[in-house]
Amino acid sequence: MSGLHDPKAHFILVPLVAAQGHTIPMLDMARLLAERGARVSFITTPVNAARIKPIIDRVKDSHLPIQFVTLPFACAKAGLPDGCENFDLLPSTEYVKAMFEGTSVLQEPLELFLRELRPKPNCMIADMCNPWTMEVARKLRIPRIIFHGPSCFYLLCQHNIALHSVYERVADDFEPFLVPDLPRQVQVNKAQALAFATGPEWANFMHQLAMAESTADGIVINSYDDLEPWYIENYQKAKGKKIWTIGPLCLCNKDVTSKATRGNKASMDEHAIIKWLDTMEPSSVIYANFGSAARAPPSQLIEIGCGLQASNQPFIWVVKEAELTPEIENWLSVELEESTSSRGLVIRGWAPQMVILSHPAVGGFLTHCGWNSISESISAGVLMITWPQFSDQFLNEKLIVDELEIGVAVGVKVPTSHVSEDGPVVVGRDDVQKAVSRLIDDGECGKERRMRVKELQEKATKAMEEGGSSYVNMTRLIQYIIENTNEEL
Ligand code: UDP
Repeated sequence: MSGLHDPKAHFILVPLVAAQGHTIPMLDMARLLAERGARVSFITTPVNAARIKPIIDRVKDSHLPIQFVTLPFACAKAGLPDGCENFDLLPSTEYVKAMFEGTSVLQEPLELFLRELRPKPNCMIADMCNPWTMEVARKLRIPRIIFHGPSCFYLLCQHNIALHSVYERVADDFEPFLVPDLPRQVQVNKAQALAFATGPEWANFMHQLAMAESTADGIVINSYDDLEPWYIENYQKAKGKKIWTIGPLCLCNKDVTSKATRGNKASMDEHAIIKWLDTMEPSSVIYANFGSAARAPPSQLIEIGCGLQASNQPFIWVVKEAELTPEIENWLSVELEESTSSRGLVIRGWAPQMVILSHPAVGGFLTHCGWNSISESISAGVLMITWPQFSDQFLNEKLIVDELEIGVAVGVKVPTSHVSEDGPVVVGRDDVQKAVSRLIDDGECGKERRMRVKELQEKATKAMEEGGSSYVNMTRLIQYIIENTNEEL
């Protein structure tokens, strides 16, 4: 039997190349697998490879056995404008479905690449949103594991809602219901639980995702056993297949450079940010960032800024390039930055999020509740103000606020898919201000929340250390793959 350091354990990692929130955790996974003796081929595309070049360079310097494989991405064939290989490059949200479905243009080049490989790779780990990998793995007889980005809490909620055909019984998108078969009451509506891909035009793609999952040899999840034990155990039972929880994956980034080199190139030097944070009181700074995909209209941005201004707390606020209209740029520099120059830092573009969250001056994270952001916040022991927008984010909020009690909700009820851009703002400045003051509350409630998040941080660190649950699960995953493919090699 081969050992863990047998170079024959070769994993092909196929992220959803078009999304930073899907690519970043798989880059961490690549590194963890390679550090544990496996060989990794990481699939990317020309535009995305250029973005992650600093990571590619860092990997080269580390001499880890990770190869980046750049496959051609035929935009025209996918029905996408030239060069649009990432969601954040799309000229409008009308192309979102084309992007999800269009990544299947990678099917043929991936198959060609894999056919040439000798010896045959041991395993493919493919993002849940790449159902076309099912056919490639089947043809070449390579075991295929699915990577699910979100928590088991979210995945089990979705499973139970589908199992009990809940959506067939609700009157409309807004009728509240309790998610069945959970140990506690989790109340949502269809708009919040789905918060994405709701129309009938998505049915075929959703069906393909379900097929790709049901035919997979197992599932890897960016979570850890002590975070959501009941949900992990019961999700595994519900799926009846192997589940490996191997996170928080972000914890493989230990030094400042690794923490700063994730996803896009940061728009501000990490050392300048650290220097700024060093001047602030411990646990005083509110960090506001809504991930890689969410966009806020100008009126909403102004409410966020005014809320942070009124909170009187120090803050770092990340405003994306796509949000920087001339009106917003003018408002930021004339109104906000002038009045908060001693305690506010606005980052325009991409922030080195893990560097910021890891700094002791940061006391709260105003987040859109993307699962990576949540895991990074927990890994840094930082409390959250939750402002979900779409996809898994409303259910993630339930986990953070009600189940784990490590955050406060800003109070948003409706996903962005159900809000008109010209309509009234979803969250007002008072809501932001109130949420910040509840989060920094020094009373019993606040102290307990802070204690809980620190405990979870400690448990996350232990899970990833040698002998910890995620470390052991990674060992088991590699071992399982070696044992189940040795005969064929
Ligand atoms: N991220 C970052 N800087 C930014 C915005 C995002 O480093 O300015 C990273 C963040 O640390 C996380 C990922 O991008 O790893 C976003 O993933 P998440 O699941 O939180 O949200 P999504 O972008 O998928 O909505």
